[in-house]
Amino acid sequence: SEMHATAAIAPDATATTRTKATTAVEMVGVNKWYGEFHVLRDINLKVLTGERIVVCGPSGSGKSTMIRCINRLEEHQKGQIIVEGTELTNDLKRIDEIRREVGMVFQHFNLFPHLTILQNLTLAPIWVRKMPKKKAEEVAMHYLKRVKIPEQANKFPGQLSGGQQQRVAIARALCMNPRIMLFDEPTSALDPEMIKEVLDVMVGLAEEGMTMICVTHEMGFARQVADRVIFMDAGQIIEQNEPHEFFTNPQHERTKLFLSQIL
Ligand code: ADP
Ligand code: MG
Repeated sequence: SEMHATAAIAPDATATTRTKATTAVEMVGVNKWYGEFHVLRDINLKVLTGERIVVCGPSGSGKSTMIRCINRLEEHQKGQIIVEGTELTNDLKRIDEIRREVGMVFQHFNLFPHLTILQNLTLAPIWVRKMPKKKAEEVAMHYLKRVKIPEQANKFPGQLSGGQQQRVAIARALCMNPRIMLFDEPTSALDPEMIKEVLDVMVGLAEEGMTMICVTHEMGFARQVADRVIFMDAGQIIEQNEPHEFFTNPQHERTKLFLSQIL
């Protein structure tokens, strides 16, 4: 009878969480201009919780701009972007809420060179999340172990290899406990021998069920973990499909041309 009472209070909530996939990110008719330049054209994209999306396409097609709009590093001018149920508007409180949910990793790591690795990792948790220093350091060490470089904690970024620095950048994002991770060509500035150590960390995250949107041209990674590959050109999503179909049976000429150049 207790169960019955609970169901009577919130039948919809129970049904929703049990049966329906939730939406992590939704872009509806999103358009953006840089001055006169129309950089994003009618982007429609729905990413479910736990989904792994790979975004590819030629340089200048708008991939970075699109994912930067998701945490408001760039502002769109038309359409809607809804992240974890909150629509991105000019309301600063909402932008703040959304940035809490969304971690980002950039091509050029963006670590503070004058801070140690540990200080890089604890800065935002202490100052933004108001976490006690000791707790923040525990969390930081936990994630440094996960990216397999706990012994680097007291070094400075310049003392680490590119692959190590990028793993620090991933750990830094994870310290904020994000629900969604955005990656913008995280391996494209790395020497070939360091790419795998970064991709391995990303594969691990994917296996744990993290919602991920990854701009990358690492097609092995796409085949291994992506639920969906999205191809962009000239500010539009031209084509999307699950990886096997995407690679073996691309539909559009522009996709075929792109794949012929990178594979
Ligand atoms: P991608 O990541 O696919 O290479 P971007 O999103 O970085 O593409 O850029 C898309 C287009 O927008 C490019 O033509 C680029 O030159 C232009 N662009 C990017 N950022 C700016 C900016 N801040 N101001 C003006 N144009 C920009
Ligand atoms: Mg880019």
